[in-house]
Amino acid sequence: MGKLVIVGSVAFDAIETPFGKTDKILGGAAPFIGLAAAQFQVDSAIVSVVGEDFPQEYLDLLASKNIDVSGIEIVKGGKTFFWSGKYHNDLNTRDTLVTELNVMADFDPKVPDSYKDAEVVMLGNLHPNIQLGVINQMTVQPKLIVLDTMNYWIENTPKELMAVINKVDVITINDEEARQLTNEYSLVKAAAKIQEMGPKYVVIKKGEHGALLFHDSHIFFAPALPLEEVFDPTGAGDTFAGGFVGYIAQSRNIGFENLKNAVIQGSNLASFSVERFGTKRMTSLTKEEINKRLLQFKALTQFDIAIQ
Ligand code: AMP
Repeated sequence: MGKLVIVGSVAFDAIETPFGKTDKILGGAAPFIGLAAAQFQVDSAIVSVVGEDFPQEYLDLLASKNIDVSGIEIVKGGKTFFWSGKYHNDLNTRDTLVTELNVMADFDPKVPDSYKDAEVVMLGNLHPNIQLGVINQMTVQPKLIVLDTMNYWIENTPKELMAVINKVDVITINDEEARQLTNEYSLVKAAAKIQEMGPKYVVIKKGEHGALLFHDSHIFFAPALPLEEVFDPTGAGDTFAGGFVGYIAQSRNIGFENLKNAVIQGSNLASFSVERFGTKRMTSLTKEEINKRLLQFKALTQFDIAIQ
């Protein structure tokens, strides 16, 4: 079993979509990543921080999926990070209504000793200095470090972000952010520029239009499964990342061919995550359901054409 360290927010989310509204439910990048990675044979740990108001029941839920939660610090008297968002009718765009950093404002990540030699490190979307802090705590050079980031850090902490980008093997980023980071409209040019910044692999997420994996001159495209119903896209990117790293940690193979499969595994799990509010769908998912949809992915993209 490969070891995986996940750093990311653990949060309360309040979400509004055209289909309904939730009160504060379990959210944050790390639970989405962890629950997706838990679908594979991995030994994973979440490194994060919550307040005293965070229900033990949520920690138990993560632990029940074999996720080590000893690296989730509980701050006495503190309040858990809170995020609230409202989706527009097309579900592709959303407004952030509230971001209360609370205990996340002073987050000083501590990787548990037994995970400092993990082969795979997943740096969820957070301040780049926190991401760098986690890399610096690893006592053995990880085989693969994967970074997720967003426009906020590109705009507000570009220097710090470049320092961490330089130290990772894979970056996952959405199309608009890739353009913003590189000033290139063409995603092929943008990916080439990002590879020059450090990462050998660049994953560009295009929401309902799938994801692209770039490595040297190779490009691989994975579609998103066309779904009848998307209920809540929150955490789709994190679920994708969790499936991606979970599969790699399990297979212990960081070659391009294997990373192609990791992109498919991530896309597959993300297609489930959006079917219910928050992390709900991921907690009830079965191997049979996952495999059935993997076959749909295969059927969707395979064709046999005669080249004349
Ligand atoms: P995504 O839909 O992939 O953008 O991820 C949504 C998750 O990210 C939610 O569960 C939020 O709690 C979390 N989130 C939102 N804003 C931030 C932030 N500034 N830092 C860390 N996590 C955040």
